[in-house]
Amino acid sequence: MKIINDKTSGDYHIHSSTLSDGMNSIDEIVIQAGKLKYKEIAITDHNQEYLKRNGFSANTHYSIISSGRWKNIHNDVHIIFGVEADLLNENGDICDKIQNISTEFVILSSHQKIYLGDASLIKKGYINAISRYGSEIKLLGHLCSQQFTDYLSTEDIIEIVVAANKANVPLEFNCANLVNNKTCENNLKAMLSCCKSLYVNSDAHTLYEFVNVRNEGFKYLKSNNYI
Ligand SMILES: [Zn+2]
Ligand SMILES: [Zn+2]
Repeated sequence: MKIINDKTSGDYHIHSSTLSDGMNSIDEIVIQAGKLKYKEIAITDHNQEYLKRNGFSANTHYSIISSGRWKNIHNDVHIIFGVEADLLNENGDICDKIQNISTEFVILSSHQKIYLGDASLIKKGYINAISRYGSEIKLLGHLCSQQFTDYLSTEDIIEIVVAANKANVPLEFNCANLVNNKTCENNLKAMLSCCKSLYVNSDAHTLYEFVNVRNEGFKYLKSNNYI
C-alpha cells in the first residue's frame, strides 16, 4: 500500500467556514497549514446538495475563488480548491458542484441524509459511481465510516476497493472519523488489507482536528504494522 501524503506533505480533506460547515475560514486554515510546514493542502468543502439538505449556506460566492480573486498571502503552501462530493443513489449519481461550479479536486463520500437511494444497495452505488466518474474522482472519502456499516460487509468493502484500485482511485484513511469513534474498524482493516494507494486525511472541521488527528492516524497505521 502506497501512502500518497506522508506526515508533512499535506492534507487533502478539510472543511472551511467560508464555504461549508468547518469552523475556520480559508485564511485561518492556510495560516495553520504554514505552521504545520505542509507543502500542499486541499480545501474540500461540501457540495451544494449537502448544504441544501442540511440547511447550511456558504458565506461567499464560490466564483470569488474560482476566478482567482483569492490568493495565499500568508505562506508558500499550495492551495487546491476541491469539493467533497456525495453519492446520491445506487445508480451512482453524484453531486460534485459547489454553487454550480466544478472544482479541480473531487472526493467522493456518502452521507446518511444525502444518499437517498436504497441503503442496502450502496455497494452498487459506489461501484457504479467509480465506473461512471472514476477518472474525475481523486479519492473515495471515509468509506469505513459507521454511517453505512449496516449495509456494507467487509466483503462489500473489499469489492469496492478492488474496483477503486482498478480505476486508479485512491482510498482515504479518515483520521477525524478514527479519533471521533466514527469508524467501523472491521471495515477499515478490510480496506487497508487490499488498498493500493491511500490518502491519510484529517477531514478537519476545526483547527484542533487539522493539527492533531492525522498524527493519530499515522500512530494507528504504525501500531497495526501497515507502515
Ligand atoms: Zn462537514
Ligand atoms: Zn464527509
